[in-house]
Amino acid sequence: MPSRTRPRTRPPRRSEIPPSGARRASGTGSVLGAILDHGPVARSTVARLTGLSPASVTGHVGQLLSRGLVRESAETTGPRGLGRPHVPVDIDTSRFLVAGAHIAVAHSTVALMDLRGRVVAEERRPHPGTDPRRILDGIAARLGPLTTAHADGRRVLALGVATGHRVDPAAGVVVEHPHLGWRAVPVREILAAATGLPVHVDSHSRALARAEQMFGEVSTRASTVLLFVGAVVDAAFATAGELHRGPRSGAGSVAHLPLGSGGSGDAEPCRCGRTGCLQSEVSERAMIRRAAEQDLRVGTFQELLDHAVAGEPRAVALFRRRARLIGRAAALLLDMFDPQCLVVVEPGTGLIPGCLADLREEAGMRSWVCDDPERTVVPSSFTGSVLSTAGGAVALGALYTDPLCPWPALPAVC
Ligand SMILES: [Zn+2]
Repeated sequence: MPSRTRPRTRPPRRSEIPPSGARRASGTGSVLGAILDHGPVARSTVARLTGLSPASVTGHVGQLLSRGLVRESAETTGPRGLGRPHVPVDIDTSRFLVAGAHIAVAHSTVALMDLRGRVVAEERRPHPGTDPRRILDGIAARLGPLTTAHADGRRVLALGVATGHRVDPAAGVVVEHPHLGWRAVPVREILAAATGLPVHVDSHSRALARAEQMFGEVSTRASTVLLFVGAVVDAAFATAGELHRGPRSGAGSVAHLPLGSGGSGDAEPCRCGRTGCLQSEVSERAMIRRAAEQDLRVGTFQELLDHAVAGEPRAVALFRRRARLIGRAAALLLDMFDPQCLVVVEPGTGLIPGCLADLREEAGMRSWVCDDPERTVVPSSFTGSVLSTAGGAVALGALYTDPLCPWPALPAVC
């Protein structure tokens, strides 16, 4: 491990502590969220759902209408002829889109998403190398043609960017991404200059946890842990709807969680020098190595996944073994956080029969607090479109938290 010098600082005085950085949805955000969940929905129902007064809901809906984020639905509710009909409101998906980019270790994905979180178009390309400037310029260059081909007259509001490891969303900086060799890369600054769009940046785990809260598994809103298993292994956790980031943007760094004895005796050492770390046991690279040991030669992880989905027994066995190992890590996370929901983002659990059951069984057997893994441990709602969802979810997360955000494509409201 590299040694790091830490400057000695005195603890802050109470008077110096800044206001909490937690960002709860504003009144307008709560109204937009209720419309997302229930639309088309009457204003009176929105008032009941949010606990806001009918007058205040009418005000918020007026602002959302003037921004073009919601529209009045053609249908009416309530009995005919009894005073003014209730005109329900719904999310307007006809005017705006968001763009998303996900930067993986070997490739990047750009996508367009509508305001209901549906992927409209996506495109994946291998990286030319790991130089941040080349990768980010490449992403910016691909967005224009993708928008021209698929936006269908809708304007792109903002660009969300997601990647693994440590990301500081407030600064818009990738703090550290060891697999890419990135440190302190100002992604927001570079992409905002290259695209002219407002850019929001976050870790892919937090982005996907937010996507679940907005468009996927509802139980994630109470409290959730999301475990991402890809070329990078990391996690995110949220309580009361708020995602925890940590002062070093490091919350969820579970790559080196020790899986304990009983892992593979033949393990290749982890990049940290130890053996038996979660990432070195279950990462895509580890899977390809294990496949080669069994004479199953594949060029990429996707090929191995394709074999397993087609039922190739050695490939299936590798994914089921991986599911058991992920189950061990899941048990540790369940005991540490006791979340309402633990979301596993791993293609095997969504696509290969037996993997999810194995994972749940292992987690249930090892956890001291979780006695209903069938209900608590769920696969990602976005299996098959995880990478194209992650980037857009960063932008939509910002929009649904603060629908009055000053994005140039949205009309200003006062
Ligand atoms: Zn390690």
